[in-house]
Amino acid sequence: MKNYKLKNIIILSLISALFIFIGVTQYNSFKKNITEANDQLLAGYKQQLQTIIYTYKINSDTFFNEKINCDDVLEIMYKVQSASIEEQEVLREQLHEIMIESYNEQIVAGYRQLHFHLIDNTSFLRMHRPSKYGDDLTEVRETVRLVNANLEYVEGFEEGKIFNGYRYVFPLIYNDIHVGSVEFSISYQSVALLFRELFDETSTFIIKREIVEDSVFESELSNYILSDLSFDYYYDKEVYDYYESSVLEEEREIIDSVNNKILENYKENIKNEEDFYIIDIENNRLVFFLSIRNIKDEHVAYEVFYNSNFSSVYNVNDIGEKLVYTVILWLLSMAYVVQLYKSRNKFINLTKTDKLTNCYNRHAVDEIFTREVELFRRYKKEFSMIMFDIDHFKKVNDEFGHFSGDIVLKGITQVVKDNIRTNDCLIRWGGEEFIILLPQSNLEDATICSEKIRKEIESNRFIEGYEKIITISLGVTVFNKFDTFDEVIIRLDRNLYKAKENGRNNVVSTV
Ligand code: GH3
Ligand code: MG
Ligand code: MG
Repeated sequence: MKNYKLKNIIILSLISALFIFIGVTQYNSFKKNITEANDQLLAGYKQQLQTIIYTYKINSDTFFNEKINCDDVLEIMYKVQSASIEEQEVLREQLHEIMIESYNEQIVAGYRQLHFHLIDNTSFLRMHRPSKYGDDLTEVRETVRLVNANLEYVEGFEEGKIFNGYRYVFPLIYNDIHVGSVEFSISYQSVALLFRELFDETSTFIIKREIVEDSVFESELSNYILSDLSFDYYYDKEVYDYYESSVLEEEREIIDSVNNKILENYKENIKNEEDFYIIDIENNRLVFFLSIRNIKDEHVAYEVFYNSNFSSVYNVNDIGEKLVYTVILWLLSMAYVVQLYKSRNKFINLTKTDKLTNCYNRHAVDEIFTREVELFRRYKKEFSMIMFDIDHFKKVNDEFGHFSGDIVLKGITQVVKDNIRTNDCLIRWGGEEFIILLPQSNLEDATICSEKIRKEIESNRFIEGYEKIITISLGVTVFNKFDTFDEVIIRLDRNLYKAKENGRNNVVSTV
C-alpha cells in the first residue's frame, strides 16, 4: 500500500514537473521576446532622436552658411576684437539688428538659442537674451572652449547658463582670422514636438538638479521646475509647458499615475544614469529613459518616452492564452491520472475481495498483516487475531443444498461484521473458514469479542425452516513480537482445532 502511494506521488509529481517546465519555458521565451522587443524599441528611439538632431544639423549648416558666414556679420565680429567697451556696445546692437529677422525665423523652425562668442570664450551676444553678455564661458561651456581652441565645428548636448540644449557650434573666421564662434541650439521641446507629430507619443525631458543649480544664472532658474519623476531632476519648463498645453486630460491622468510609480519604485534605476525602461501594465505604458550625455560624455539628463503601443509589443493576450491552455492541459492530465488510479484502486480492491461474502480474501491478508506488524513495531500497537469455522457446515449443504449454504455463509459474515469495529478486518480464509484481525486489541479483548460473536451466531436463524442451531468454533491468539505470519496462523489453527475438539460452539484462546 505504501509503495503504491509513493508511486502515485512520483508519477503525479513528474507530470506536474513537466508542466512546470513547459510553463517556465514559455514564460522565459516570453520574457526573452519582451526584452528583445524593448531593446529594439530603445534602439529605435535613439535612432529617431539622432535623426531629429541630424536634421537640425543640416538646417544649422545652411543657416550658418547663408546668414552668418558672410562678410557683414564676420566684419562686426572682427571689429569687436580691437573695440573699446563703448564701441562693442554699438557693434553688438548692429549685430542684433542684422540677425533679428533670421533669428525669429529660426525660432519658428524649432531653435531656441543663437549665441555669439569672442575668441576668449566671452559671451558677446545672446539673441535669446540680448541683455546678458560679457560673461566668461570657458568653465561652463566646453563646446565653445573646444571650438575656439581648435577652430573646428563641434556639436553635442550641453547645459547652459540660461537654457540647456543640443548645440551646434561653428568657428567664425574672417579673412583667415579667427574672430569668435557662434552657436545654434535646440531644446528638447523641439524633440518632444516632433515626437508628438511623427509618432503621436508623449515624451518629456528631465535634467539633473545639481547641474541646473550649478550652471544656470540664478535669475534664470524659473526656466526649470522640479520633476515629479524624481526629485533629483528638473523639468525644462518649456518642455513641461508644451506637455501641459498639448496633452489630453485622460493621457495626463495616466502619465501622472505612471510618474508616481516611477518616483516611488524606480529611484535606483534613475540613479544608475543609464538607459532603461519600465513596464507599467496597469497603465498600459512602456516608459523608456534615454540617457542624454553632454559633450564630456557625462550623463546630464533623461529624455523620457511614454510608449502606449503596449499590447502589440508584448503579445500579452498571446502568452496569456498559451498559459491558460497549459494550465487546462495540466488539470485535464491530473484529472485523467487521478481517474486512472481510482479505477486501478477499484480493480485492485476487487481482486482482494471475496465475491460471495464481500469480505477480504486471502490476497489481502499479507498486506493487512504487514501493515499491522509495522504499526506494532513503530507504535507498539498490540493486535489480535481470531480464526473461526462453521460447525458441521457440510450438513447444511447436504440438507438444504449448496445455494442455502451460501446464504448461511453470507448471513454469518453479516452478523460478524455487525459485531466488530470498523477498523477490524474480516477475511475469508477459505471455504467456511474466516480470520478476523483486530487492531489495538489484546487477547482479552479478542476473547470477549469472540464470545459475543459466537453467541450472536448461535441465536440467529439464517434459513427459514431450518430450526437447527448453526454455530461456529473460534480460535484466538495475540501477536507477539517474534511472530511470523505462519506462526500466528499455526496457533490460530491449533486453537480452532481445540475448540472443535471441545465440542464445537466454543472459544479457545492462547497467547
Ligand atoms: P466441522 O465442524 O468439522 O468444520 O465440519 P464441516 O462439515 O463444517 O467441515 P468440512 O470441512 O467437512 O466441510 C466444509 C464444507 O463447507 C464443505 C464444503 O462443501 C462447504 N463449503 C466450503 N465453501 C463453501 C461455499 O462457498 N459455499 C457452500 N455452500 N459451501 C461451502
Ligand atoms: Mg466446518
Ligand atoms: Mg472447515
